[in-house]
Formats: sequence, C-alpha cells, structure tokens
Amino acid sequence: MEAQLLAWYAGAGRDLPWRHTRDPYAILVSEIMLQQTQVDRVVPRYLAWLERWPTVDALAAAPAAEVIRAWQGLGYNRRALALHRAAALIARDGWPDDLTVLPGVGPYTAAAIGNFALAKNVLPHDVNVDRVERRTGHGFTGAAAQALMDLGATVCLARIPRCDACPLEALCPSRGTRDEAARKQSRFEGSFRQRRASTLRLVAASATPGDVLDREAVEALARDGLVVVHGDGTVELPS
Ligand code: SF4
Repeated sequence: MEAQLLAWYAGAGRDLPWRHTRDPYAILVSEIMLQQTQVDRVVPRYLAWLERWPTVDALAAAPAAEVIRAWQGLGYNRRALALHRAAALIARDGWPDDLTVLPGVGPYTAAAIGNFALAKNVLPHDVNVDRVERRTGHGFTGAAAQALMDLGATVCLARIPRCDACPLEALCPSRGTRDEAARKQSRFEGSFRQRRASTLRLVAASATPGDVLDREAVEALARDGLVVVHGDGTVELPS
C-alpha cells in the first residue's frame, strides 16, 4: 500500500517551501507555525520569517518584542515565545537529543523534525496521518509521512473522503464510507482567544495604559510572558 501512496505523491504531492530543505531550524519554524495555522497562511509567513531570521542564532539574538510582532496574524501567539526560547536554548547548547525538551516541541513536532530534517524513520502522527492509517488499517513507515499528510489533507478528507480520486481505493477497506461529522474548530469570533489577540495587537503597536485594555486578556497575556505590566500600569511587549 505504501508503494501506491508514494507513487501518487510523486505526481500529486503539494510543493511546499519547507519540503525543499533539511535545515532543522527551518523545519522547526515551519512545524511550529503549522501547529495551529493553515498551510496557505503559513507559506508566506514562513518565507518572510526565514528571510528575516535565517538561522537559529539570528532568531535567538532578536528581541522578544520583535518576534511577537512578527508573529501577529498567525494566531496562538504563545508559539512565538516558545520558538524564540527554543532558539535561545539551541544557540546556547546546540540541538538536544530529545527535542521535546525544547519549548513548543511535543512528540509530534519532534518526530516531524526527526523525519524531515534528520532523516529518522519516524512517522509524525497528526490527525491526517492517523485518519488514513485508521481507514486503511495499514501502518506506514516514516518515508510516507509527507504523502500521508497530503492524502489526508486533499483526498482522504475528514468528513467526505474522495475515494474516487484515491490511489489506495483498491486496497482500502473503508472506501466509500463516511465518518461521523468531524468536530469543528471552536469559534474564534467573540472568544477569549479573540480578546487576547486584539489586546496583544494593540500592545504590539505601542505601549498602552492598562486601564484602556481588556484586563482579563492582559492578565492572561502577562502570565504567558507575551506582555509585561509596569508599575504605572503601562502594558508593553517584553524587551
Ligand atoms: S479509499 Fe477513501 S477512505 Fe480509503 S484511504 Fe482512500 S480516500 Fe481514505
């Protein structure tokens, strides 16, 4: 089954910029961005990020405020700080054997960096990969990682799989079946996540008096280290 999948990927795989590099730093940036942001939105931001901070040392040397500003619009801003802190650790101590000691790097991201940058035969399990393995009943190797992600994102879709267009149709016991409606992502409009994002956007534009800001959002951002609150109540990005 893996052979059919890889043959399909050779012709139909998505051409994504992080697939042209084995630089672990570039893969780290792409994977942290992709954790909670869609591929189309990540592509231009990833390219701009690497142009601005092409190496782990360059990112480590950047002020936290600049890193948070550059992240605006990608959402889940804690990732910016995690990436910045990870870069500082790597610049100081080198790449650790266990990548999950780095901030923002869990088992999935560690496996992705291991596979895409360090040529390890590990399969990063994201929702797309899990779904294709579950539906096909097949365990794939690390060599199939990118192909599985593409199949899951473009053909073996969560709600209505496009079995007619699937290279595994002849071998798949789930062909022609549907899952229960996939869970939708929680609403952003009106959520606390949105309040945090708008508050951070204001503070990123300039230091702002706390009494004109959403107090709960400021407290949450301060707890995460995304803003600092000075004695006079002014809120700004960390230096
Ligand atoms: S045949 Fe259908 S269910 Fe099976 S892997 Fe392909 S798209 Fe998914």
